[in-house]
Amino acid sequence: MDEKLERALGEREGAVVELTRELVAFPTINPPGEAYTPCAEFLGRRLAASGFEIAYIRSEGAPGDSDLYPRTNVVGRHETGRPGPTIHFNGHLDVVEVGQGWTVDPFAGEVRDGRIHGRGTCDMKGGLAAAVVAVEALLASGLPLRGAIEISGTVDEESGGFGGVAHLAGLGYFSKPRVDHVIIPEPLNVDRVCIGHRGVWWAEIETRGRIAHGSMPFLGDCAIRHMGAFIQALETELYPRLGERRTAMPVVPDGARASTLNLNAIRAGTAPEKGGLPSPCVADRCRLTIDRRYLIEERIEEVEGEIRALLDRLAAERPGFAYGLRELMHVAPIMTEPTAPVPQAVAMAIEAVLGRPAAFVASPGTYDQKHIARIGHLDDCVAYGPGILDLAHQPDEFVVIEDLVASMRVMALATLRLMGVPA
Ligand SMILES: [Zn+2]
Repeated sequence: MDEKLERALGEREGAVVELTRELVAFPTINPPGEAYTPCAEFLGRRLAASGFEIAYIRSEGAPGDSDLYPRTNVVGRHETGRPGPTIHFNGHLDVVEVGQGWTVDPFAGEVRDGRIHGRGTCDMKGGLAAAVVAVEALLASGLPLRGAIEISGTVDEESGGFGGVAHLAGLGYFSKPRVDHVIIPEPLNVDRVCIGHRGVWWAEIETRGRIAHGSMPFLGDCAIRHMGAFIQALETELYPRLGERRTAMPVVPDGARASTLNLNAIRAGTAPEKGGLPSPCVADRCRLTIDRRYLIEERIEEVEGEIRALLDRLAAERPGFAYGLRELMHVAPIMTEPTAPVPQAVAMAIEAVLGRPAAFVASPGTYDQKHIARIGHLDDCVAYGPGILDLAHQPDEFVVIEDLVASMRVMALATLRLMGVPA
């Protein structure tokens, strides 16, 4: 690594820890979307100090946006003064709820045993801090750069990203010619480059029956039993088929390399209030929410079609079976080619910093890259950042300081590779 850059990075190992702790101190819990504006303004002031031009963009009317909980995003842009491409680092400012089981203050950023603890240290304020300090070091090194560098802090990733990256993408923030390369410092482990994710299809299935007194169920028609027949068909017919389908995409963990289906929620009958008894009725409605994660080799028409085929067959064979099927959400699978500029630059930097080859992986679930691909039509995008993916959203979440510092070096080196002026 260049000596001047090495020195600038070495001087900033404490700064990346400090910035992570400062970001974690904002309790940006989503929902409802607390402390978004002060957190965005803090990041904006930080970037302005390095010569970034700052824009605050509130996604008015986005889900959850209100005067009490404004959806405030921040974008900083630094022009080098030489023509060239633009690289954009995007981090989400929101964190999930704290939940039970913590042994440390979730917002204190406590440093212990080489780790920073707190909600969002791993997912993903540590990664955002690493990107910011990497760029600060690169600018301070005085190495000649071309093009522009952008850093954004966006909201609502944990609830779909509609008031965050999707909103900015709709305004052209993630499209050419404004931006060429995007790195999202999500916690995918310090030596892995994430090039995409599987598809998502959420649907609600409703079975219908007829209400009657629970002592005379033969006078009604039980929607829960109809749903039971559908779940039985899933067990015997669909689950075995899904397990056999394997993707060529490098999805981690290995179990997610198959097609999967989760039954997220089921509701029917009159639920008892706080330990009471339900009323003795035959349930006339049963609703099931399914969470289907599909492979890049599958088509959405087939994903929906095989569910509908099971339901149609039950409707033909089972007396009284009637159903409704409603799509709740659809996100297509995406993949950046590993040979594209950003995956190559990050992989090269990982090998240079860690002394071992990078692994290309794909995520079992989605993240904001979906909006960049679908709305921004920008393909050269990866997720890369410190933090152990499995720790995200857990109690006593932490990021390992050694990984945080290594990822800062990787991001600086990858940026230099993409933005440096060739000698
Ligand atoms: Zn995240």
